[in-house]
Amino acid sequence: MRRQKKFYAWGYADEDLTPAEIAAWEAPIASHYGLSGFDVTPPPRPDEIALRAPRLAAPAALEAIVRTDPMTRLEHSYGKAWFDACRMFQRSVPNPPDAVAFPESEADIVRILDWCDAVGAIAIPYGGGSSVVQGIEPTAGFDHVVTISLRHMDKVLEVDPVSQAARIEGGVYGPHIEDQLRDTPFTMRHYMQAYRCSTLGGWIATRSGGHYATLTTHIDDFVESMRVVTPVGALETRRLPGSGAGPSPDRMFLGSEGILGIVTEAWVRLRKKPAFRAATSVRFPSFHAGAGAVREIAQAGLYPANLRLLEAREALPGVPWSDESALLMLAFESADHPLDAWMGRALEICRDHGGTAETDALEGDNPQRAGPAGAWRDKFIRAPHYTEHAVARGILAWTFETAMTWERFPPFHATITRIALDTIRRVTGRDGTITCRLTHIYPDGPCLYFTLGGILDKRIMLDQFMAILTACTAATVEHGGTTTHHHAVGRFHRPFYDKQRPELFARALRGAKRALDPKGMMNPGVLIDP
Ligand SMILES: Cc1cc2nc3c(=O)[nH]c(=O)nc-3n(C[C@H](O)[C@H](O)[C@H](O)COP(=O)(O)OP(=O)(O)OC[C@H]3O[C@@H](n4cnc5c(N)ncnc54)[C@H](O)[C@@H]3O)c2cc1C
Repeated sequence: MRRQKKFYAWGYADEDLTPAEIAAWEAPIASHYGLSGFDVTPPPRPDEIALRAPRLAAPAALEAIVRTDPMTRLEHSYGKAWFDACRMFQRSVPNPPDAVAFPESEADIVRILDWCDAVGAIAIPYGGGSSVVQGIEPTAGFDHVVTISLRHMDKVLEVDPVSQAARIEGGVYGPHIEDQLRDTPFTMRHYMQAYRCSTLGGWIATRSGGHYATLTTHIDDFVESMRVVTPVGALETRRLPGSGAGPSPDRMFLGSEGILGIVTEAWVRLRKKPAFRAATSVRFPSFHAGAGAVREIAQAGLYPANLRLLEAREALPGVPWSDESALLMLAFESADHPLDAWMGRALEICRDHGGTAETDALEGDNPQRAGPAGAWRDKFIRAPHYTEHAVARGILAWTFETAMTWERFPPFHATITRIALDTIRRVTGRDGTITCRLTHIYPDGPCLYFTLGGILDKRIMLDQFMAILTACTAATVEHGGTTTHHHAVGRFHRPFYDKQRPELFARALRGAKRALDPKGMMNPGVLIDP
């Protein structure tokens, strides 16, 4: 039986936070803000949300793979951001899809797109629905909306052990990829944070960033070739290890967020399962001391699998601590060789920047579960579950991410921090918090991942939240960063993306859209105008 995901928030219904976890999280927040407790809104039940009746019915030929029942439409209405959970907790879903289609093959997708074309419906490709940028939420103002979920296209079709690659369908969730590779020596290891409930097609369409902090950070680096079904036909790019033959067709679809077509399968690069690992955590007296070490490690060409620098006060989402130190999660992995030399050199660099290793660098099976590194990993997996509890209490606990080159990093970090704190104070009438971690590290700059904290007025919390997130995101672009490093553009980032990209590029993208989707039915409102 399929494990039931929550329709109103992140994760599965059977894995909620325990009362003890919730108490340990909310008590320090209440105490910091001088509150005696929180007014907690209960999560919504499906019968509390009145959905508009579906405005179209599937033709007989598609009845077996199209659903229009309220629960299915509700589950496909929003992504998994704070503002999505907020609207669910407000029992407000004014614009659900009219139908959700579940193709089992490319031929099904073609038939569904033909149906959308015939009835004038827009089509929204849907993977795991873990978008946090309104990527799968129907744009208002269209008469008919069909969401196309790839959930049944979930197979690893072929493994090429010589070139170390696999042909995989677009609708497969992360863990199911690894399950299907279990009997091979290979792994894909694109462990992004939403890995458990997101799909290969979604990763490709959003250019997702995985757990590799250096070198192969984005899904782009894994994709060898792909198949895409567009409204005017299907195409397949050629499997090549590299190519200098003109602009890359793969690059056109990587990050296309469902506006050009549906990624039905891809050949992705695999690697041998790691047999050697070395992991430790290093404490620095300050975030910027740690950033200096991280930069030098990235520029030394050491390429650790994990190189995440966290402000120590970023203990739990929204919880304010006063610790000024920073913690670096440092790990190397290899299927081929021991890693002492790499770890040794990285620790030398850390020491030069005032860092102290908190545990001995551990070699062996799964050492990341031990010590602070293990605690960080567990928190990384549990953290998304706090969002719904923050929403239920009117607590601001959410993130935004950007990237910046090293030479502008310190003033950029200071400016964004100041703007965020000023905005929280202006919007909520009291001080809030912001912390930063560096999640992906390049020789020329880091990805800055900010976490906001504060207390909202529950009566107007959605407006307050949107005002804060919008101001922070606008600031990242205004001060030279990107509107998103790995969370995609969707509908939320559209205004900022419009400012970031060159206008002539927007024209070229519109041209590509016209060629592949002449009627503009694919996910309108995302990336470019409907
Ligand atoms: C708790 C949490 C943690 C997250 N952590 C990360 C992270 O570490 N790294 C990261 O990059 N992102 C992260 N995200 C964001 C999100 O998981 C990614 O954007 C992910 O790649 C979306 O995959 P999905 O299958 O859920 O796609 P969906 O959310 O279903 O869709 C996302 C977009 O892709 C399009 N799309 C989906 N499937 C296809 C397809 N087959 N063909 C064409 N278009 C398609 C949709 O139309 C939509 O525009 C996180 C989100 C959450 C909720």
